[in-house]
Amino acid sequence: MHYLMQEGYVDSSNALEQETKLGLRRFEVCDNIDLETILMEYESYYYIKFQKYPKITKKAVDNDSSLYSKPRSGGKLRRTVSNYSQGLPRIAPQQTVQRPISRGNTRTTEHSKAPNRESCKQENGSNSPSEVSDFGLNVSAINKSGGCGEGGHPKKERLIKPVSAFIGANSEMRELAAVISRDIYLQNPNVRWDDIIGLDAAKRLVKEAVVYPIRYPQLFTGILSPWKGLLLYGPPGTGKTLLAKAVATECNTTFFNISASTIVSKWRGDSEKLVRVLFELARYHAPSTIFLDELESVMSQRGAGAGGEHEGSLRMKTELLVQMDGLSRSDDLVFVLAASNLPWELDYAMLRRLEKRILVDLPSKEARQAMIQHWLPPVSNSGGVELRTDLEYSMLGEETEGYSGSDIKLVCKEAAMRPVRKIFNALENHQSDRKDLPAIRLDTVTSSDFLDVIAHTKPSAKSLMQKYIAWQKEFESV
Ligand code: ADP
Repeated sequence: MHYLMQEGYVDSSNALEQETKLGLRRFEVCDNIDLETILMEYESYYYIKFQKYPKITKKAVDNDSSLYSKPRSGGKLRRTVSNYSQGLPRIAPQQTVQRPISRGNTRTTEHSKAPNRESCKQENGSNSPSEVSDFGLNVSAINKSGGCGEGGHPKKERLIKPVSAFIGANSEMRELAAVISRDIYLQNPNVRWDDIIGLDAAKRLVKEAVVYPIRYPQLFTGILSPWKGLLLYGPPGTGKTLLAKAVATECNTTFFNISASTIVSKWRGDSEKLVRVLFELARYHAPSTIFLDELESVMSQRGAGAGGEHEGSLRMKTELLVQMDGLSRSDDLVFVLAASNLPWELDYAMLRRLEKRILVDLPSKEARQAMIQHWLPPVSNSGGVELRTDLEYSMLGEETEGYSGSDIKLVCKEAAMRPVRKIFNALENHQSDRKDLPAIRLDTVTSSDFLDVIAHTKPSAKSLMQKYIAWQKEFESV
């Protein structure tokens, strides 16, 4: 009937309705929604809620003895279990599954679904149909065996529980949860503890706060109950974000990578709700780590700044404090890791709740030397072109005092560019087919190249160091 209407056969459509007496106008054809999908969605929802698959039954027909049989004892008919659940990927009790949120809303149109599916693929970093089944359940396995800690094999993509069970039918919550869920790391950032050069004290403390309480929960009770909040502060480019990424890589916790842009909403009141949903989601997906990058842009001192503070922003801050209090009173395995380049701008009440505060310092001489050695080894190969270096690492480590990790990386890059730059002219003048490059031999990068680069690149944070140390004296916890 809809088809007839659409094609302009109005009379035929009316006649069909009258003759069938079915009142078809009350129904609408749904694109891309079929009974099988609905059943599968229901079964996975049921599984998440009750840890077992539902038994979907069908009323038996008496005379079909091949399918249904009466039990010998007489009485009721035996009911058959549908084989739908056999088609579903079985989820081991420890495993959890991420479904695109839009799937919960079966009424969404295809138009509004498309971007969500796309973003799901992007987040999962995979377009492979073998990993994402056609009903949106991700079926690749989660590797629980590695747990937290150093070494081990690269972990597979993280799978998390579907949010639909968390938000129910509330559409506002659904939207807010979707915003937050976008910042959950599903893809492994692939930073190992060993990839972080130096920073031994910071690494040890982070492990103590996040890794060990999950691995040895029996130890962390009473006075030893785990830290709920940790602040990494220090000059920019010293590896604070890197430490957080190592937590995400090495620990099997759900990692919420939250920046100011996620929770600072231009809609009054939304920021406050976003904070609440963030913590609720973190509890739902526990064990979780909430990483608040550039904390000063979310949690600067209240009332600071010209013209007073926006009421919405104040409410958001209060909510964050309330949520942090909630964490410290509960046994939930939710941990807040915050990073800031400007700790002196932070709200004092927030500081109190970040019980552990660690200065991520500029690298020591040994660390600087190790970094240069790491980024400019004696021989390296990029794109089939060999790069050789002849560097006095120890002397260069000495000369780079005051440089942060990212400054040193920049200097190494610039030094490596020098011999490459020299051959550009030769390459450009090489008239023949561009694809057929002449055999390239790069000059060796020498210590004097490196020193020359240092002379032109100033350390970015050296001047601020005194301020960090003064702040450390006043605020750092033991
Ligand atoms: P921030 O402290 O500002 O968060 P990042 O962690 O983002 O700094 O570091 C920026 C970049 O500098 C990193 O991606 C990494 O390449 C390099 N880097 C800084 N510190 C270290 C370190 N200790 N070990 C290895 N690389 C480092």
